[in-house]
Amino acid sequence: DRSPVTVIGLGLMGKALAAAFLKGSHSTTVWNRSAGKADDLVDLGAVRAETISEAVSASKVVVVCLSTYEVMDELLAPLGNELSGRVLINLTNGTPDDARKTAKWAIDCGVDYLDGAIMAVPQMIGASDALLFYGGQQDLFQAHEPLLKLLGGNTTYLSDDPGVPMLYNLALLTILYGTGEGMLHAQAMLSTANISATQFQPYAAAWFNNVILPLFSSLDAAREVDEGDYATEVSNINTNRLALGHIIKASEELDISAKWLAPNKALLDQMVNDGYGEDSPFRAFETISPVRRNK
Ligand code: NDP
Repeated sequence: DRSPVTVIGLGLMGKALAAAFLKGSHSTTVWNRSAGKADDLVDLGAVRAETISEAVSASKVVVVCLSTYEVMDELLAPLGNELSGRVLINLTNGTPDDARKTAKWAIDCGVDYLDGAIMAVPQMIGASDALLFYGGQQDLFQAHEPLLKLLGGNTTYLSDDPGVPMLYNLALLTILYGTGEGMLHAQAMLSTANISATQFQPYAAAWFNNVILPLFSSLDAAREVDEGDYATEVSNINTNRLALGHIIKASEELDISAKWLAPNKALLDQMVNDGYGEDSPFRAFETISPVRRNK
């Protein structure tokens, strides 16, 4: 089945999505505010729609990838009637609530809706290991799975809750940004003794592979959090609170801002005050998670 597909939004990501559909031999209609971004795709065989309304009307399946939900709302809100009876697949990044609200709007307009989250950069689109999450109507996902697989071999349906793909996306990005900030802080500390990031790299890599990965991404670590059993024979809150205190003090001595670490230290202090000093630092989950906090 080589059904036609429309792609709205031809930024870095949208262009890669449209190119993957073309490569899969789907007749692909494209629209972008700055029309020139369609040129390369037209050379590859895409049809350039002159208006967004024309783009929507060209295909039963409409894929949207814009910078924000606000932009998407602005563009699609006037098109409810044209979209009615079609399938809207939204790959724009936002929050779970954005996705849920858009899903509700779509259903109210008679539009079938899937929300997706792309865990890949444009260069990875179409690769067998590119990961994309989807949520919303499961039958819709199943019906369009072959088309969606053109964007990434690791195309995964998560939930009938359309907010869940964004939740996974932002959860994974939280790990990315937390780790990234830690990495740059570490490199800044070493730079004060003229040690380059390149010199540090083998130690950082070994640290990631041998310590951080097993500590934070093992099944045991996940079970500890799920079960809320924080007894430890490894390293307790008392010890880690001291280490974090040393990092903050050293950073201040080295003129590196440690503000982002202060809330982490406050959490460990609080747990010690509450009598949990002998537990694993993962106990912080009980405070961070609103589900556990309000139990
Ligand atoms: P770009 O900045 O390259 O593209 C943004 C797109 O939004 C363009 O098509 C742009 O149109 C359009 N746009 C912005 N404002 C308006 C507006 N007011 N009216 C009409 N169109 C508008 O971003 P990306 O393509 O990289 O990202 C698109 C989405 O994909 C984002 O939600 C992003 O988070 C997500 N994503 C991107 C990844 C990446 O690595 N690039 C990875 C995973 C997800 P115009 O060309 O006219 O400016």
